[in-house]
Amino acid sequence: MLHKNAAGEPVGLITNIQRYTIHDGPGIRTEIFFKGCTMHCLWCSNPETISPKRELGIYPSKCMTEGKCSWCVRACPRGKELIKFDAEGLVSFIEKDGGCADCMKCADECPNHAIKSWGEEKTLKELMRVIKSDESFYRRTGGGVTLNGGEVLLQWEFARELLKACKEAGINTCVETALCVPSEHMEAVYEFTDLVITDIKHMDPETHKKLTGRSNELILENIRRTAELGKKLVIRTPVIHGYNNDEENIRKTGEFLRNELGGNIVAYQLLPYRRMGTEKYESLRTPYPFEDYKAPEREVWEKDLLKLADILRTEFDLPAVAGSSGKLDVEL
Ligand code: SF4
Ligand code: SF4
Repeated sequence: MLHKNAAGEPVGLITNIQRYTIHDGPGIRTEIFFKGCTMHCLWCSNPETISPKRELGIYPSKCMTEGKCSWCVRACPRGKELIKFDAEGLVSFIEKDGGCADCMKCADECPNHAIKSWGEEKTLKELMRVIKSDESFYRRTGGGVTLNGGEVLLQWEFARELLKACKEAGINTCVETALCVPSEHMEAVYEFTDLVITDIKHMDPETHKKLTGRSNELILENIRRTAELGKKLVIRTPVIHGYNNDEENIRKTGEFLRNELGGNIVAYQLLPYRRMGTEKYESLRTPYPFEDYKAPEREVWEKDLLKLADILRTEFDLPAVAGSSGKLDVEL
């Protein structure tokens, strides 16, 4: 269902807008991150995008202290009943289950962003204003707009409207999606999508479920369908040492890509694990599921990625590369 604001305009729940990005599609891009996800990957570095609802993030180190400020308490209809401070007077906790109305007034009023609202409703007009302000960069570099998440296709109706508006403005479009969604939602946005970026995290359904919370059958089916529809695809595998970096899994992935996707793959990127987003987990008071994971030294994982990319290029004739930093050689 297309959500609308009080003025009746369609809105999307957005966690972030990044301008001048260069890794998720060709050229210089504006990237819009949608809130809500269908999976729960152990290594997720964007935990603020998982819940489909707005959430409060707390950053005590930014708080000016209750004694010197307390704007949040004054803004909140329940004041100190909900907003708690530690012994030093720094904001430390919000009793979400104690009658919080989710109004976000505390976050809006906090002068130092010690309380932050993860997720903001944005209209098409607001987003297009930001997108269009960088049109000259897109033209010069072959760039455009990338919708990302979370899982952008959870808000597929709004995403479709936004992609349509971009295409009408002559701006090329990429969608980065895990594709763990109903096929009809995926196909609905493809009419206005030039490039699809997606992941294959593991070829074994059971292991995939352990790593992400969901099996991979629907994802692989949607990837097949994406290729059948003639969409250009960038495939990525986040390579997690000890979980999916074995040659057997990589060869199975290579077979699937070569045998079932034809010539639709413009790049296959093997991405290293990077421990990121831990401060966001803290702000949400959520434990980081990969807390105890020990990543190998750089020289070990770098060698690993190069070896796997080499297998995919030589045995399966795939355009495999280690990392996502190389220029994506595709015209949209
Ligand atoms: S979201 Fe609203 S009700 Fe909840 S703590 Fe903040 S100001 Fe209070
Ligand atoms: S409004 Fe922000 S800075 Fe001020 S007391 Fe509340 S959390 Fe701290």
